[in-house]
Amino acid sequence: MYHLTHTQGRGPEFATVFDWRLAVSYTIRDLIVTPWMAGHRTSRDNKLKRVYYLSMEFLIGRILGDAIINLGLDHQMDEALESLGLNRTQILEDEPDAALGNGGLGRLAACFMESLSSLGVPAFGYGIRYEHGLFRQRFAAGQQVETPEDWLNQPHPWEFVRVDYSYTIGFKGEVETVDGHSVWLPGESVVARAYDTPVIGWQANWANTLRLWGAQPTNLFDLHRFNAGDYAAAAEPEALARTLSRVLYPDDTTDQGKELRLKQEYFLTSAALQDIIRRFVAEHGEDLAHLPDKVAIQLNDTHPAIAGPELIRLLMDEHDLPFAQSLDLARRTLNYTNHTLLPEALERWSIWLMGHVLPRHLQIIRMIDEDHRKSTGRPANVSIIDHDEVRMGELAFIMAGKVNGVSALHTDLVRSTVFADLHKLHPDRIVNLTNGVTPRRWLRMSNPPLARLLDKTIGTGWTGDLDLLKGLAPYADDGGFLDELRAAKRQNKVALSNGLLADLGINADPEAIFDVQVKRMHEYKRQLLNILETIALWHRIHESPNGDWTPRLKIFGGKAAPGYWTAKTIIHLINDVAKTINDDPVTSQFLKIAYPPNYNVSMAEKLIPAADLSEQISTAGKEASGTGNMKFTMNGALTIGTLDGANVEIRELVGPDNFFLFGLTAAEAETEKAKPGHARAAIEKSDDMKIALQLIAEGRFGRPEHYYALLDRTWNDDPFLVASDFDSYYRCQRSVDSAYADHGHWDRMSALNIASSGFFSSDRTIRGYMETIWHV
Ligand SMILES: *Cc1c(COP(=O)(O)O)cnc(C)c1O
Repeated sequence: MYHLTHTQGRGPEFATVFDWRLAVSYTIRDLIVTPWMAGHRTSRDNKLKRVYYLSMEFLIGRILGDAIINLGLDHQMDEALESLGLNRTQILEDEPDAALGNGGLGRLAACFMESLSSLGVPAFGYGIRYEHGLFRQRFAAGQQVETPEDWLNQPHPWEFVRVDYSYTIGFKGEVETVDGHSVWLPGESVVARAYDTPVIGWQANWANTLRLWGAQPTNLFDLHRFNAGDYAAAAEPEALARTLSRVLYPDDTTDQGKELRLKQEYFLTSAALQDIIRRFVAEHGEDLAHLPDKVAIQLNDTHPAIAGPELIRLLMDEHDLPFAQSLDLARRTLNYTNHTLLPEALERWSIWLMGHVLPRHLQIIRMIDEDHRKSTGRPANVSIIDHDEVRMGELAFIMAGKVNGVSALHTDLVRSTVFADLHKLHPDRIVNLTNGVTPRRWLRMSNPPLARLLDKTIGTGWTGDLDLLKGLAPYADDGGFLDELRAAKRQNKVALSNGLLADLGINADPEAIFDVQVKRMHEYKRQLLNILETIALWHRIHESPNGDWTPRLKIFGGKAAPGYWTAKTIIHLINDVAKTINDDPVTSQFLKIAYPPNYNVSMAEKLIPAADLSEQISTAGKEASGTGNMKFTMNGALTIGTLDGANVEIRELVGPDNFFLFGLTAAEAETEKAKPGHARAAIEKSDDMKIALQLIAEGRFGRPEHYYALLDRTWNDDPFLVASDFDSYYRCQRSVDSAYADHGHWDRMSALNIASSGFFSSDRTIRGYMETIWHV
């Protein structure tokens, strides 16, 4: 009531849901500020080493619900809202998602921030305060349409502006030599301004800061032009500067090579490093030789890899240290996480562009290359500069103390493929740290029925120590427990069904298998395999409509990069198939498809707790880890999946009997791909796949000409081996059908999945980084 009146300036009789939501948020924020400030004081007074996580993406989602949970105030908040006659769900869902990321990489950064606070590790996250996060997706005639996202078009109650923490970021210009020193005279500059969001940990013992940089012009305004009456031109400097933090690049896995992207990467990195050095000097004095003792920097993928040359530049040009020492200090401070082996995702910049935008950095990159050649006595195939391009993977690797992969399989492949030569030169540098997700958001908050059952069965300790879920294993043979587990799942499925009916008009039977594939749309993730299997199944049901079919609801969710034609065509196909199948009276009791638009964190929080089956069907060797797969396992869904990414570890932990495995291994996939005509040969052998492709070509699902190119690609190229894995997948899905029909058996498998999922807490991942990389 205080914040409604004095912060929002509204009396209760006029207050909207928005007013109430802000009042609630400020109330919760007040309670976060105290541990937040205490944590800062503790870190500073004890001169603690800090972790700095640099990421171009933080896919946070909503903040309020998570903060309430971590403060342990869910029951009190419910009571308070009830006493005011307010609807809790309505208030929580009024908050827009902070969608400052594309998918898994950005969500990982958000989970890491939460775990760092829950574990009480002094840390800062550094990112960009994009005015427009990831685009909104809607469907028009089944096709994806992107509209801008505008989460900051209303007050954002969680951030604190720090006008006093502003740094100048230069671009372009010349490098001159003055008294034997190189001096960079940038041709352009902008100001990076800090916006801080506290991230509260579990049980509110600690809170760290997510510091996002917003771009400001160095000169706000061209007064001269304004006075001359040219108002648009007067505002130009401001508009230009602000483009740096205007929009998130909506691309998951392709490198675009655009100047604005390079500028954004440097903007984040330079602002973060200047801030880190300022704080170090304030706490520990001018002697930067001790930097690695107090600072551990983690680069989330190569996006901030310009940190290597930038840190050297700051130490050498601005703090007068020699090159060799600057290089050594930088390398003992920086670490790099590799997220992908896909060649199209490995960042490269033309030498021309790098020299144009960051001339001093290009010089330093050549010095790093030269030093590496000399110190390793090695040839050019491991050099940063290659064929007139700067290779950011090599730069990040050579400048890192440790390089890590994100699942056991992925790390092996990092060692044997992308960085094979560098690995031979530096055999101790690559380490594995399998990803994780925070169980506070992904279990306690998003799945109250299951959380209550866990609390009742094994106590509440699992939330902060997910390994305690092991205590559930004995209950896998307890019929009473399994009934309650099924009831909890059913409650989530009913809630989702109601939502799907209201939003999409789809009438889903909560008894059906809820079969869910939600993630970015990408060929390697193989949503195409899933929809082709759906078509083949639909055809089989038509052949024997009186057969003993297990009812299924196929749920898809995900966005395609705006310029990714094949992914967008697959979206169109899924929607076309859904239209035909959902209207088919012969099959509708057995098979339905739902594709709610605009998949984001908040939608994931609803879909995952309601899932029976988790689709993790990427071509083996292509998905670095996946984290969606872990969220599903924790929530009791069984996985149908390939031996890819962290699926391998999920299967080992839950046991092969409790996992639906199909498809080629990574090594087999490589061999298969090398065979000429592999796709055609596989399709000719598979009646089901052939029928599915034929039905599309005949126009059974909308206009076939939309799909000719996709069909052609599938028959003749099929780079992600949909055809080679089709039969194995189809058969595996039928074994899912029969397993699901036996409730007791299914629920037992589900319980064992939950019981084995403790390893996938991001608390475990962060402890790993602390021990093997950060030494904090
Ligand atoms: C977890 C998550 C992802 C990552 O999913 P994968 O299946 O691992 O690709 C992507 N987007 C959102 C919104 C998520 O919550």
